Amino acid sequence: VTDKINALPEGANYFSLEFFPPKTSMGFANLQVRLERMSQALRPLFVTVTWGAGGSTATKSLELAEICQRQLGLTTCLHLTCTNMSRALIDEALEQAKVLGIRNILALRGDAPRSEEYRDDTQLPEDDSNKDFTWAIDLVTYIRKQYGDYFCLGVAGYPEGHADESHPEKQDPKFDLPSLIDKTKAGADFIMTQLFFDVEAFDSYEKMLREHESGVFKTIPIIPGLMPIQSYQILRRTSKLSHARLPEGLLARLDAVKGDDELVKQVGVKILSELVDHIKPRPSVARRGFHFYTLNLEKVVSHILESCHLIPPTLIAEDEEAIATTPAINL
Ligand code: FAD
Repeated sequence: VTDKINALPEGANYFSLEFFPPKTSMGFANLQVRLERMSQALRPLFVTVTWGAGGSTATKSLELAEICQRQLGLTTCLHLTCTNMSRALIDEALEQAKVLGIRNILALRGDAPRSEEYRDDTQLPEDDSNKDFTWAIDLVTYIRKQYGDYFCLGVAGYPEGHADESHPEKQDPKFDLPSLIDKTKAGADFIMTQLFFDVEAFDSYEKMLREHESGVFKTIPIIPGLMPIQSYQILRRTSKLSHARLPEGLLARLDAVKGDDELVKQVGVKILSELVDHIKPRPSVARRGFHFYTLNLEKVVSHILESCHLIPPTLIAEDEEAIATTPAINL
């Protein structure tokens, strides 16, 4: 991922898309067709595949990652959580990823098993009370120790602070700073953020990191995580789960149309496009990326990408141009 980011010209923008593994083979077949369409039409720099806490979706996550990386040729980043995961399971996942040609891992702690799966509703397995890994840094350190620089590693960042229901008073980005410094020093190559709608929270988060006296965040890619608004109910549910603040102005715009799903989507595309346009122009950031939590849905994210001019030109068009401007071929 970071090689691809660094190969972009200065001032370029890029984006990535997140997908979760469907539960059924029919779901997989449908998603595969959609992924083919999306990868050709939208051309993300990379895609990411979620991982169910405790390894609950291990087989299916790897299956989806294989489709993305091998069958569709997309640069794929596999999410991997470590809490309630045995070392054997982590080793197996990393070995499998390697076999599939995957070079990118988003190293996460994950949450203790709960009834609600990460952006999905898959059943969770029994807690195996594993004690090898407690925090995401344990996983970053382990992967670096076992695999050196083979994997490009991403870690999670929280512009509005990490929401831990048992310590709501600690939901403050400053509280997470020491652990983010540690994760970065231990070998993280990029930071991908939790979804947010409060763009000012992201602004001050990025400023805090870039200006941090340790200097560890000076150049590391900080990729803002954005969730397209698919419906009023989904927005309410996901923002509650992730503890993302919904600014009043945004809510007022959506409240005004909440009875009409199509209008909610249209207003949502405008809201997300404004967020992207606000974040885009940063002289301090050589190449600005955006990560979209697609919820495996296609239309809304496509509209946002089109409206923000984030879709890169096709390779074919570039090839044709190169051919047309090659004197030998013109003759
Ligand atoms: P950590 O970096 O370990 O931090 C978790 C919290 O613990 C923070 O508040 C931190 O400040 C604190 N902390 C860290 N180290 C210490 C320490 N030594 N002592 C005390 N406190 C400490 N979950 C999934 O299950 N599957 C996914 O696919 C998934 N994908 C995600 C993708 C992104 C981009 C993001 C932002 C989150 C994702 N999550 C996923 C959710 C994530 O697993 C949870 O938010 C989890 O609670 C924290 O993970 P972390 O990697 O941030 O943990």
